[in-house]
Amino acid sequence: MAATVYAQSPSRPSWLDPYRETAAKLIHESSRDDFAWRRLAELTDTFGHRLSGSENLERAITWAEATMKRDGLQNVRTEPVMVPKWVRGRESAEILNPPHHPMAMLGLGGSVGTPAGGIEADVLTVSSFDEVRSRAADARGRIVLFNAPFTTYSDTVTYRTNGARVASQLGALAVLVRGVGPAGLRTPHTGSVQYGQGIPPIPAASISTEDADRIARLSAAGTRVRVRLAMEARTEPDVESANVVGEIRGRERPDEIVLLGGHIDSWDVGTGASDDGVGCIVTWEAARLMAKLGIAPRRTIRIVLWTNEENGLRGATAYAARHAAHASNHVFALESDSGVFDPASLGFSGSAAARSIVRDIGSLLTQLGLSDIVAGGGGADIGPIAQAGNAPMMAYLGNPTRYFAIHHTPADTVERITSQEVSKAAAAIAVMAYVIADIPERLPR
Ligand SMILES: [Zn+2]
Repeated sequence: MAATVYAQSPSRPSWLDPYRETAAKLIHESSRDDFAWRRLAELTDTFGHRLSGSENLERAITWAEATMKRDGLQNVRTEPVMVPKWVRGRESAEILNPPHHPMAMLGLGGSVGTPAGGIEADVLTVSSFDEVRSRAADARGRIVLFNAPFTTYSDTVTYRTNGARVASQLGALAVLVRGVGPAGLRTPHTGSVQYGQGIPPIPAASISTEDADRIARLSAAGTRVRVRLAMEARTEPDVESANVVGEIRGRERPDEIVLLGGHIDSWDVGTGASDDGVGCIVTWEAARLMAKLGIAPRRTIRIVLWTNEENGLRGATAYAARHAAHASNHVFALESDSGVFDPASLGFSGSAAARSIVRDIGSLLTQLGLSDIVAGGGGADIGPIAQAGNAPMMAYLGNPTRYFAIHHTPADTVERITSQEVSKAAAAIAVMAYVIADIPERLPR
């Protein structure tokens, strides 16, 4: 995907002169050691994966609140939110016809389970929605495998999200979805499935690209592939969770807010290091660096560690509702939920006037290799409040190929990320947020 890169600003816009020294200090302090990476390791090692409704998530939230207070952030609090509780249970998928082959699989989040003993059926392999519709008669009573090769996440994820609904309408018993990501090492990718109103929900699971290709090759050769899928998955009543909020209070205009954050929940595989423990850590670190260096910008910097991004977006929805009356006080919102893998970039969405200021600020990030601002900022969690307040949005965008290789898999762990990548993201976000929070006039809408 070719990104639009806005023309670089002149190398030293003079209006930035009052900010150069502080920006340099933030960058220096961030890159001095691996503090932020170690904090990410502490989060992921101590609490593990953090699915909504789990004790792990609530323990991580309690820790984050206490640790933010110790960092010297202000107004640290939790804002309660009811979240869904989906439980995976035991699960398996196997090819039954000789040779017997147990597959690497992960049930999709929100999926219903199978009857005890599982569902046993022949597989219909398709590579698109058009193909399954054109073979509707063959789908009935079968397990449908959506084997669409990965192109981009936004193009391919539709089979994970909508495959079960489409196949159920055609009378299929269950669906298997080729892992939504580039070829991995026998790595299935979980993620949420959506059912349709009035359409019977059928079990849905991800399988690895290797197993999907194997079934496709056998089917193409005319071999009947018989699979047994067994899943104990179930949804329990909602439970209480919370967004974690902490601030660097503005010295002159505390009511105007520069909003930064990532989501603290994750899927229940791996440890949610890239998705999105690191987004929490780098935005939080931006504020910690300011507190440590005694930097008090004109406006308030507010960090929100969002709950339940993955399977409900309840944290974002609750924040937008709770702060609706102050939506227009949000002058800027940044989300880090695309990893921090190099080469990374900063994406921006906003007016031309705001873009030209942000582009100038980018010139302070030259030594980090992040001076080019690309088109397209935003994120699932900041979206509702930023839209309500018409606030310009930014996203920290890690290299998508590295990110999606491990996205929602058991391989999303801290050792894939380097401490330099974490420090760099924290430094860039700190500088961007600090200047936007401190400029005399608020960033234009
Ligand atoms: Zn995420």
